[in-house]
Amino acid sequence: MSIGWNFDNTYQKLSSDFYSRVEPMPAEKPKLTLLNTRLAEELALDFSNAEPAELASIFTGNRLPEGTQPISQAYAGHQFGHFTMLGDGRAIVLGEHLSPDDKRFDIQFKGSGRTPYSRSGDGRATLYSMLREYLISEALFHLRIPASGSLAVAETGIPVYRETVHPGAVLTRVASSHIRFGTFEYAARFLSLEKRRKLLSYTLSRHYPDLTERDDQALELLKCVSEKHLSLVIEWMRVGFIHGVMNTDNMSISGESIDFGPCAFMNGFNPATAFSSVDMNKRYAFSNQPGIAQWNLAVFAGTLLPFIDDDEEKARKAAQDVISAFEPRFREAWYRMMGKKLGFQHVGPSETEQIDRLISWMEKTKSDYTNTFLVIANRDQKPGRFKTDNEFNTWHKEWLELINRDHNGLEGARKRMADSNPVTIPRNHLVEEALTEASNDGNFSKFHSLLETLKKPYRQVWTAEDMQQVPAGFDEGYKTYCGT
Ligand code: AMP
Ligand code: MG
Repeated sequence: MSIGWNFDNTYQKLSSDFYSRVEPMPAEKPKLTLLNTRLAEELALDFSNAEPAELASIFTGNRLPEGTQPISQAYAGHQFGHFTMLGDGRAIVLGEHLSPDDKRFDIQFKGSGRTPYSRSGDGRATLYSMLREYLISEALFHLRIPASGSLAVAETGIPVYRETVHPGAVLTRVASSHIRFGTFEYAARFLSLEKRRKLLSYTLSRHYPDLTERDDQALELLKCVSEKHLSLVIEWMRVGFIHGVMNTDNMSISGESIDFGPCAFMNGFNPATAFSSVDMNKRYAFSNQPGIAQWNLAVFAGTLLPFIDDDEEKARKAAQDVISAFEPRFREAWYRMMGKKLGFQHVGPSETEQIDRLISWMEKTKSDYTNTFLVIANRDQKPGRFKTDNEFNTWHKEWLELINRDHNGLEGARKRMADSNPVTIPRNHLVEEALTEASNDGNFSKFHSLLETLKKPYRQVWTAEDMQQVPAGFDEGYKTYCGT
């Protein structure tokens, strides 16, 4: 039986300014390290009859599936606020796979060698960072947060030189596309109006087909992308996710999380948490994410102006209205999300006040963001500080009073809370331990056991033993890297 690849490549129909043809660099000793059978099933791909050697060849790029037309994509972007020409420096889109239900997926290699956009980079990736992306993308999927998926990790047998020598690897990444805000910025800066219009039409038909016939399609696209990013950041903040590198080139038009190399999860509640080693000024800290999303959307809006209205003033005003609406809409959505985390059926003035007071208590005490909501739902599991903290206990009593006004009281609230509050998240110390053992020693036992835990983040029933504890002081010195 065949694997079931079904490539239908449309990005290449855009002008060749948008991409370069590239071949993946051959691997010396290809070895399949991870294969994601859940994602394979979603794509209707069946690898069960393929020999290990064949799989290793496929996922390192030594043997490309029929129908692929590998390209690297051109794009620009604002990195930490500054415009730069970029492009896929270490990624190659093999093609677009159509699943039987007509869903279109980019199949992309990351770490498969130099491309015309590599600048001084080697185009390669370390096993450590590709395992990290695999683990986090699976965690995001099971947390029900839109994100690119990881189909496989394969080792190349070629060492990669960073501060130390690492095993080299290729990640096979799956996303509904890799069209970025930065793709529009690139077109706006360097290409003709006609080519920009083609990119707009292509993007609409690929992601927002309902808009293709509308006269106000550019403004509507801005509204849709704005909504998608609003709910994406809300979802990140629901679980304590910090993307880490919210440059405009890492913002997908589809509203999926992509390029989250230095991402990490916040444990103790501190809005200023930022782990990325290159984010010196904490531009992309936990609580800055909504403001940055709005800033990024304003950059994207700027690329659409000629298609919003021929009159530049009118175009600017219309776009500005969408961007300005982001802040109040986000605020409203954030309270709704927090209301769900606290089991409220609706969020009125009393609930809003209760949310605000919890946030300031968590900030003051640096209480664990994940465990706090578990304890609120189930006081029987109330460990340590939660037992003795008077402020928390008073807050909890008032919360119970509010909950008991709702239909089904505490029982109903607990049910709602279990859907919004994960029991397990990728804790930094566990992620590091699992990745270091896998990458340095080839020992995957911790990696696989962590991956299994992350596949069931939500549980109606759990005990104190399921609550994860972070070793004291671990996060204070914790740094993440861009994943090169
Ligand atoms: P990122 O922050 O991972 O999204 O990467 C930012 C830019 O640097 C993109 O244009 C990447 O393609 C490029 N880049 C990252 N790592 C490498 C590498 N090892 N070789 C070449 N280019 C790279
Ligand atoms: Mg990137």
